[in-house]
Parts: sequence; C-alpha cells; structure tokens
Amino acid sequence: MAMVTLGDIRAARERIAGKIGSTASVLSPSLSERLNVPVHLKLEHRQTTGSFKLRGASNAVASLSMGERARGVIAASTGNHGRALAYAAKLECMRAVICMSRLVPQNKLDEIRRLGAEVRIVGNSQDDAQQEVERLAADEGLIMLPPFDHPAIIAGQGTLGLEIIEQVPDAALVLVQLSGGGLASGVAAAIKGVSPGTKIIGVSMARGAAMKASLDAGRPVQVEELPTLADSLGGGIGLDNRLTFSMCRDLLDDVVLLDEDEIAAGIRHAYEQEREIVEGAGAVGIAALLAGQVKARGPVVVLLSGRNIDMDVHRKIVCGEIPSISERAA
Ligand SMILES: *Cc1c(COP(=O)(O)O)cnc(C)c1O
Repeated sequence: MAMVTLGDIRAARERIAGKIGSTASVLSPSLSERLNVPVHLKLEHRQTTGSFKLRGASNAVASLSMGERARGVIAASTGNHGRALAYAAKLECMRAVICMSRLVPQNKLDEIRRLGAEVRIVGNSQDDAQQEVERLAADEGLIMLPPFDHPAIIAGQGTLGLEIIEQVPDAALVLVQLSGGGLASGVAAAIKGVSPGTKIIGVSMARGAAMKASLDAGRPVQVEELPTLADSLGGGIGLDNRLTFSMCRDLLDDVVLLDEDEIAAGIRHAYEQEREIVEGAGAVGIAALLAGQVKARGPVVVLLSGRNIDMDVHRKIVCGEIPSISERAA
C-alpha cells in the first residue's frame, strides 16, 4: 500500500530548510491546569503565509525537476493552500496559477494576487474551478499540485510532526486538524515513526466531516459541504483518494467532531487565555480539550494550524457572538 514514510519526511525537511520557519511550542498554563497534565501549544499559525500549508507547498515545488519548474504550477484553492503555493512558487521564480470560483470574496483574491500568482475566476463552485485546473494543465502544461492527496505535500506537512516530537519528546497525545488528511497523515507518520506509543487524534467540525464519514464507511464517501467557522476544514477527500484515506485509517487512533459553539469557544480561549489569534480550523484542538472530548494521561500537544480569519468575524466571536453564515463568507 502507498504510504509516505519517515524517510520521505526527513528528506522533505532537508529540502525545505531555510524556505519555511520552524515554530515554537509553548506550555499553556490554563489548559494544563484544566486537564491535570502538561498541555503544549504548537504555534504553527505563526508560520509564513499564516498556516502550515507552506510546508507541503514548499516541498512539492522544491521536488519538481528543472523541466517541470519551467512549466509552472496550478491548483484550485480559495484558502491557505493557494496562498502557500503562490508564495512557494514566487520564491523559486516560478509561474503559479490559482483557479477559484466567482463566489470567492475579493479580499482572498487580492491576497493571492499580492503573493504574485495569476488568478483565474471561473464558474460558481470549487468543482468548476477544478475543471479549469485540469483544462489549463492539459493546454498549457502546468503541473497540478493538489492541497492534500499528493506524496510531496504529505511529506512536507509531516515536517511539522518531526518538530513536535523533538520539542515534546514525551508527548502521550497529539491533537491534529483533519480535513483532506494531508496534515494528519504526514504528522502521524512522522510522530509514530519516531515515537510509536504517542497517540494521534484527528479533530474535525461536525458540519461536513468528510474523512470521518469515509473512515466510518470504510471507503471515501462524499458528504454535503456546509458553512462552518472552521472553513479551512471544508471540502471532500476525493472519491479517488490515493493516499490520505488509507494513511488516516492506519495511523490515527481516533477522530473527534465539534459543533460550532465548541469551535467558537476554542477561538475565544486562544485569544483570551493564550493571547493568540487563530482561525476556526486552527482552534479545533483547543476546542476539543475545552469540550471534554479527549482524555489524557500524559503530556498533550495541541496544534494551532492557521490564523487566516476575517478579523470582523474574529471580533464578533471574542465578544461572545456566533457570526451568521453570510457574515462568515465575507
Ligand atoms: C488545510 C488546513 C487544515 C486541514 O489540512 P488537511 O491536510 O486538509 O487535513 C487545517 N487547518 C488549516 C488552517 C488549514 O489550512
């Protein structure tokens, strides 16, 4: 079976050294007191571009041959993968094209343009954008770099796992965000490779948890995509999933799901107690601890995966409101 190995992840770390930052782990006094075990926060939301996605994108870009580099890269993404790929390609002086639907808000579009990528606006859905990716890859020879189901992307995200287990070698439990599963697959492969006894729990939002539904069904399945505060965790895993489904099935010890109030409480706690601004997806590990969804008998590491939240939405949440669905899309 296809798997990304500890060796692949170590090679990725060498390849992207100097292109990404390493981020700190800090002890959370308030969460440690609450759980009665040390709780460490891995501050990956402070990564360049505001999320861990730069690790995978940098590794994928740096793994291309000279011929492929000359052709440029392409992806459909409205969010953190698009930002990361634009940044990584610019660093290597490569062409990058990001496709998105007409519904993507102007600020997200501007941000990706600011990072130097070409933006193509097509259709009314992520599926339309993906079709444009496939058309342009065929017509113009651009290399498709998808957000999670790709060996170099998974290995790049895995470098985060190496950092975690070096910073907290006695970690009994690591909480990692779970959407397409590139992050969880890479992190779990790295940590289990170094420390087989460490448990890894994936955390998703209850609204549209495609990987959880697929793991329960024993095969990739489609779920309805719903608006959520953890917008970076939205989207399917692909019915033709090659790597992340089987890696998550084999490497994760459990998956927990959170409702919208619990995610909001995580964002609020991050801000008020930890003094950190994190997006909904970034806060789900904290949220799982606050909601009492996981028990720990030893040191815990909670990953904060991203910080790219609309600040008006953030302000509402810390003031105790849950913003309406239409406000969140802005
Ligand atoms: C992409 C993303 C995730 C989920 O990563 P997957 O590899 O799709 O599981 C989690 N948090 C943030 C901030 C992200 O951008």
